[in-house]
Amino acid sequence: MTLTSSLNRETACGQSWDVIVIGAGPAGAVAARQLALQKLRTLLIERKTFPRYKVCGCCLNQRAINALQQIGLGQLLESAGAVPLTQFRMQYQGRKAAVSLPGGLAISREVFDTLLVQSAIDAGAAYLQETSATIVDSAEKRSSRTVELNFQGHTAGSVSAKIVLAADGLGHPSLQNCAGFDMQVASDSRIGVGAAFVVKNQSSYPAGLIHMAIHKSGYVGLVRVEGDLLNLAAAIDRDFMKQCAGPADAVLQILRASESPLLPEMTESNFKGTLPVTRKTLRPVGNRLFILGDAAGYLEPFTGEGMANAITEGMAVAQLVPQGLRHWDSALEQKWLKAHYALTEGRLFWCRWLARLLRSPAAVGWGLRLFHLFPGMARPIVARLNH
Ligand SMILES: Cc1cc2nc3c(=O)[nH]c(=O)nc-3n(C[C@H](O)[C@H](O)[C@H](O)COP(=O)(O)OP(=O)(O)OC[C@H]3O[C@@H](n4cnc5c(N)ncnc54)[C@H](O)[C@@H]3O)c2cc1C
Repeated sequence: MTLTSSLNRETACGQSWDVIVIGAGPAGAVAARQLALQKLRTLLIERKTFPRYKVCGCCLNQRAINALQQIGLGQLLESAGAVPLTQFRMQYQGRKAAVSLPGGLAISREVFDTLLVQSAIDAGAAYLQETSATIVDSAEKRSSRTVELNFQGHTAGSVSAKIVLAADGLGHPSLQNCAGFDMQVASDSRIGVGAAFVVKNQSSYPAGLIHMAIHKSGYVGLVRVEGDLLNLAAAIDRDFMKQCAGPADAVLQILRASESPLLPEMTESNFKGTLPVTRKTLRPVGNRLFILGDAAGYLEPFTGEGMANAITEGMAVAQLVPQGLRHWDSALEQKWLKAHYALTEGRLFWCRWLARLLRSPAAVGWGLRLFHLFPGMARPIVARLNH
């Protein structure tokens, strides 16, 4: 399925909008859909052309699935051929441990994100793709916000709305000209690397399995998504990456060291990288501006919490926007800070703990031995991360 813009840039600039949503990942698409369902004039702007590849492990945890079901989008995943996840296998220096999974689905971001945007368009949101948005800084408090549009490196007009949502992912590029939304990047943050390939040999990584190859300098996750596609996503230390010939070399070194199966397709793939992933925006709200999803913050590892956070934040912000349209004040900003903390920051205890554990080879070795002997020990952790 491919998407086309539902209006052109000129038409978008000539209209007045209640809300402009920047970025059509899960946070932006869900927010735009929920706003359009409330009959608000909503413009969703995306810089890429959908479907687009995005570095991601592509695993939706049970919390993400429940959230989608709550807003009536549960059937979307089944109809798209999302693969039910049954097992999580970790491998380190040839040692393996496997834990059964209490739920979860794997689906490529090309398919998943495109379906979410289509659902926003179906709900009545206007959609403008291949257009990069930059929020104009405004020192004084105004009753609207202005966003500049850019097409192929050239200014293509500006649009205004009473409220703007920045859902533009890691590094929130749309806020590059706005003061006061600095991000704190963890000094030891890893970078994300990803690729997807059609696999001929399907037995090493069967459907339903998440395979995680662990190394002191990072880890590589592999999962089958719909069709014959194998998705690969990795978190790799920046120093280790510098010593390697490139992202593909780093990934292959980690797979080899863990004694994970290598597939011939892996060397040919087109690997993509991300900014350092562990970061947060110190204050993800401003006058007539909400910041959500990865734009507000993200933390490795990839336990399926990223998309769950993005979806639930998209849902939560759509409930606050009507109040902001009537009257914007600091009490509303506080409400968003509280919601953001409850939906993301406050839930990260186990992720932080796991991220630390994965950095210690000795702990990983002992952890795998224990989980191999007593698989029941891992269940509460997996269940906690999944919900
Ligand atoms: C290696 C790796 C593995 C991961 N694995 C998983 C996993 O298995 N499960 C999981 O749940 N999460 C995972 N995540 C996290 C997940 O990918 C993110 O948390 C999720 O995509 C956040 O959604 P979002 O909508 O906030 O941002 P994004 O999905 O990043 O979407 C942002 C969108 O904004 C667009 N954009 C950016 N700038 C502009 C601009 N100026 N104007 C217009 N559009 C713009 C981008 O093109 C993009 O489409 C992983 C992340 C990484 C790095």
